[in-house]
Amino acid sequence: MTHVAEPPATTGSDEATRERVNHWIGGKAVAGTSGRSGPVYNPATGETAREVDFASVEEVDAAVAAAHEAFPAWRATSISKRTEIMFRVRNLVEQHREELAAHLTREHGKVRTDALGEVARGLENLEFATGIPHLLKGGFSEQVSSGIDVYQIRQPLGVAAGITPFNFPAMVPMWMFGNAIACGNTFVLKPSEKDPSASVYMAELLKEAGVPDGVFNVVHGDKVAVDRILEHPDIAAVSFVGSTPIARYIYETGTKHGKRVQALGGAKNHMVVLPDADIEMAADAAVSAAYGSAGERCMAISVVVAVGDVADPLVKAIEERLPKITVGAGNAESSEMGPLITREHRDKVASYLESGPAEGATLRVDGREHVLYQEGKGFFLGLSLLDNVTPEMECYRNEIFGPVLEIVRAPDYPSALEIVNNNEYGNGTAIFTRDGGAARQYQFDVNVGMVGLNVPIPVPVAYYSFGGWKHSLFGDLHMYGPEGIQFYTRAKVVTSRWPDPGTSSVDLGFPRTR
Ligand code: NAD
Repeated sequence: MTHVAEPPATTGSDEATRERVNHWIGGKAVAGTSGRSGPVYNPATGETAREVDFASVEEVDAAVAAAHEAFPAWRATSISKRTEIMFRVRNLVEQHREELAAHLTREHGKVRTDALGEVARGLENLEFATGIPHLLKGGFSEQVSSGIDVYQIRQPLGVAAGITPFNFPAMVPMWMFGNAIACGNTFVLKPSEKDPSASVYMAELLKEAGVPDGVFNVVHGDKVAVDRILEHPDIAAVSFVGSTPIARYIYETGTKHGKRVQALGGAKNHMVVLPDADIEMAADAAVSAAYGSAGERCMAISVVVAVGDVADPLVKAIEERLPKITVGAGNAESSEMGPLITREHRDKVASYLESGPAEGATLRVDGREHVLYQEGKGFFLGLSLLDNVTPEMECYRNEIFGPVLEIVRAPDYPSALEIVNNNEYGNGTAIFTRDGGAARQYQFDVNVGMVGLNVPIPVPVAYYSFGGWKHSLFGDLHMYGPEGIQFYTRAKVVTSRWPDPGTSSVDLGFPRTR
């Protein structure tokens, strides 16, 4: 289990000459003044490309103050006007998707097609938010008692904050801010310090779309900024996506300070392959879902549970596919898989190729043999395959979050199900079979929040909600979609009566409805 540790910050003089990534407060870029900053790498070359300012408590306070000040006017802006602005936001992001994707490739390392896919799935959430007139409709009950009507309205909370992970620097913020501001809240985003530029670029697009100054703000930083967000009295709600230890910390600390919190954590997603599955199709799906984005997806398939005699032919089919995948810089047309986010993370991922076999796993494909790993410039690791993994092994118990697929062999369906349900995470899972009844049974039995039936990455479309079970989510409401609207609003119930004053009298009895 990882600890809640401070990420390193730099304070030296070397970085003074690098391009800086600034905060965005009150509708403009604001240079950091804390004297603290962090390196932003180009993961394909290993070079430090720019420097991101780390916010002090005072800088977070300035962003929250801007959001707090903007709230009354934004909340009072008509739903039609907010909708019009959301349409413009959606259109500008669509129009600039290549530039946004280029930021992702530059700082995260993912290949261009994958980066464009990320932007497209984020856009779906902005499109959902343009439906806000319909989404904010309340309920109305006429004549609940004689001459009395009751209606429910949903109102924004105030200032909402989002704290996001490195692996989806555009999509995960879009999961949050579209719905949050469409509902009438103002927003402070604290993106990952590892790839912060996409969030500032989106802030510029929001301004161009007509989002008033102060409605959307970005502060960069580390634990200092996050802790201030968690305790700030003017922040009403916090949405978090990241690793499980930090998600738990965010949930516990934020709720202790009276905030509404949804904190999505890590994952270990199992793909169960039943003996009747089409082997080639299952192998294609496993390879696509395990190694896309170098395995740095919370919905990546990280474990294939091969049931019965499907194991040998399936492992062979997966293994045959791996040398055909081209690993390289994200901006090279031929690349299908890019580097990992940092050298430290790459080395941590590679360490499981040591510890797994030491505990009895079979290393079928070793990504350390890839030439880009051996050259050692960027943060590359080739595709790796560990077979005969068992649930006690460290490589199984931890979320690896890299291009390492593990095969666990199970004799039958009940033992496969037991493996999945005993895992501490419950984000996503998939089953591959041609038997509809078996798939239906798995959907019924499995303790996981998002399930794919012959779909390896079942990320819900924007008009459903996204969220795992168990240690993959702390809080009550899933993210985006209908539950996102619930999260960013609170209900008010109004009971109304317009009586003839002539009928008025004193009545100390409890209000009756019949
Ligand atoms: P992370 O938990 O390290 O960081 C997430 C955010 O928390 C960042 O903004 C970071 O600055 C901040 N943070 C980091 N350490 C902190 C600390 N000690 N105190 C306060 N704040 C801190 O996660 P990451 O490495 O950026 O992202 C990868 C993780 O996110 C994986 O575990 C992945 O499964 C998870 N993830 C989950 C989902 C989901 O929907 N469940 C989606 C994407 C990513």
